[in-house]
Amino acid sequence: MPAPKEERAGVPLSNLDEELFADAGVTKRELVDYLDAVRDPMIAALRDRPLSVVRLLRGQDKFMQKNLPKYTPEWVPRTAVWAEASHREITYALCNDRRTLLWFGNQRAIEYHPTLMTVADHEHPTHLIMDLDPPEGGDFAVVVRAALLVRQALTDAGLDGAVKTSGSKGVHIFVPLDGSDRTEDVAAATRAVAVRAERLDPALTTTAYIVADRHGKVFLDATRSGGASVVAAYSPRVRPGLPVSFPVAWDQLGQIKPADFTVRTAAALLGNGDPWAGAMPGPFRLPADLVAEGHTIPVARVAAMHEGKRRARARRAVGE
Ligand code: ATP
Ligand code: MN
Repeated sequence: MPAPKEERAGVPLSNLDEELFADAGVTKRELVDYLDAVRDPMIAALRDRPLSVVRLLRGQDKFMQKNLPKYTPEWVPRTAVWAEASHREITYALCNDRRTLLWFGNQRAIEYHPTLMTVADHEHPTHLIMDLDPPEGGDFAVVVRAALLVRQALTDAGLDGAVKTSGSKGVHIFVPLDGSDRTEDVAAATRAVAVRAERLDPALTTTAYIVADRHGKVFLDATRSGGASVVAAYSPRVRPGLPVSFPVAWDQLGQIKPADFTVRTAAALLGNGDPWAGAMPGPFRLPADLVAEGHTIPVARVAAMHEGKRRARARRAVGE
């Protein structure tokens, strides 16, 4: 006998008792139940931000979806954004309501990646973000030490931030901004914070964009700015057990492991609260000297491209 049709908030739900992917250990029902349980704080992190999702269709590889598919119901809020890189218009969802979130869950959208600016003002990001990635095989403890250095660099500049696990290997530090700093200045200040933190302990951290140049150190990635996205607080990740990106108090960071927070444990830890919103200091306006210092630091991707070409030339010269 076929399973009875289920729906929630008017959204038809299908195949709820299937495991999401091999090794997930989690069914689609658990994903949908989790999203529904954390919908208020999660939608607060997604509201009015062009959204990319990582979906995993049955038996297929995961993929990141930016442009909404044709079959999307008309009630899903959306915004069209011109993508200079691909010379086309991309229609992004805005996950502003429960129905849209549940619809995405039923679409096997597991990860939720919003932009750092909202549609209301796309030239002024709402946060400066530092993405901290452990070295290959490095344990979480080194990421924690590096995160504390970034915080030191922030407080030395009169700023502060909140920290969350990425749900994967590293952490993300978010510094709330008051909306007066433009994208390029936020990007510059992000580079300056990274370089200042690296200077505090160059044996532990690196800002080297080229992996081979990181030498087993924690990478302070200052490139998450402009149109970039970062996985939202409370979003699950496509990993066994579906860990979630979760806020952690600064003084608890040394006591937790990223795997403590999953779709099975996280909702109970929230109660009815929103610890991510609650942890946010500020908002801040970026100090002029930090922005000015940042503008003297080359953009990592561009610098890496030039360096790659220089090394290729050097290799060719040696080979000749
Ligand atoms: P980890 O802790 O393993 O580093 P992460 O979420 O920080 O997990 P990163 O690879 O460091 O993963 O990327 C940081 C953020 O940049 C991601 O959360 C995601 O939003 C965005 N991102 C990374 N790779 C891509 C990609 N290929 N396409 C679009 N966005 C991406
Ligand atoms: Mn990362």
